[in-house]
Amino acid sequence: MIIHLKPSVTEEKALELATLSGAIHLKDEQRQILVTSSKIRQVPNDLYGFVDETFLFENDLQLASSEYLKAKRTVQIGEVTIGGNTTNSIMIAGPCSVESEEQIESSAQLMKELGIKALRGGCFKPRTSPYSFQGLGLEGLKLLAKMREKYDLAIVTEVRDATHIDAVIEYTDVVQVGAKAMYDHGILRACGKANKPVLLKRGFGSSLQEFAQAAEFILSGGNTQVVLCERGIRTFETKTRFTLDLCGVSFLKEKTNLPVILDPSHAMGYSYGVPDLSRACMAMGIDGLLIEVHPNPKVAKSDAAQQLNHEEFRALYGSLEQIGAAVGRSLT
Ligand code: PEP
Ligand code: MN
Repeated sequence: MIIHLKPSVTEEKALELATLSGAIHLKDEQRQILVTSSKIRQVPNDLYGFVDETFLFENDLQLASSEYLKAKRTVQIGEVTIGGNTTNSIMIAGPCSVESEEQIESSAQLMKELGIKALRGGCFKPRTSPYSFQGLGLEGLKLLAKMREKYDLAIVTEVRDATHIDAVIEYTDVVQVGAKAMYDHGILRACGKANKPVLLKRGFGSSLQEFAQAAEFILSGGNTQVVLCERGIRTFETKTRFTLDLCGVSFLKEKTNLPVILDPSHAMGYSYGVPDLSRACMAMGIDGLLIEVHPNPKVAKSDAAQQLNHEEFRALYGSLEQIGAAVGRSLT
């Protein structure tokens, strides 16, 4: 249950009421808010006299629910606003991993050339094998920050575990929580307190309910800038790396109040399928795309098979604008 307290209730009182009722305390510009488990169906006794409005939900998809907020929440990624009443779709592109200054600068230049506003690149890579390239760590974050300054790009980079979350939050414009980190409550709680937008990827073995509830951890920590990212789930199929769950995207668009972006690169796993999938995603009327592109995919240190080269990416990007326009969206 989400409980809006009366405007006269002070923050101090709200905190006291939260402790008494075992609720999470939040506030927005207008009011103090308490959130309890959705299993609680009646206003706790301690709160009588202090309540303005209550919202009941069937399950713990509450703050992220479109039943609570009909309009999408807005998220600011650099100079681009997505969600809210905008019709913007943002392109976030760049290599899987930041590998060297030369490589990430080449990607930054490509974004600049195409007028794209957000550059991605991982520095703390969540690899399946300990023997694979693990990322440049802090050195990579500094290279990304350099690209932001030089090319005026918003930076998107991922956090692998809670040990380096402060560094990622400090350097990045958007904190990416990867599929394998979706259940890491240390990360989710830190993101809830961060003053940066969070791009939350769906765990490849997670249900839509679990995915939405991971977003609830961030929202209930006080950070309203959360973007959901579908990046493929594991099914019986082995010919593609994962299966992009477009039905799930429809669910998220309808039932949540969070912007939704899609990552066809990780879902497909092979570059040949990425352009078609990207166009299909764009046609769904989504808030953005996340695509891996590398100056020379053959020598990429991670996810080599799925990254587009610059020429392929230019051709794809050029084909997306019209598809966006057909569904009333503009791609930046
Ligand atoms: C990535 O974006 O490079 C990545 C590791 O993605 P995911 O967490 O979806 O596997
Ligand atoms: Mn990758």
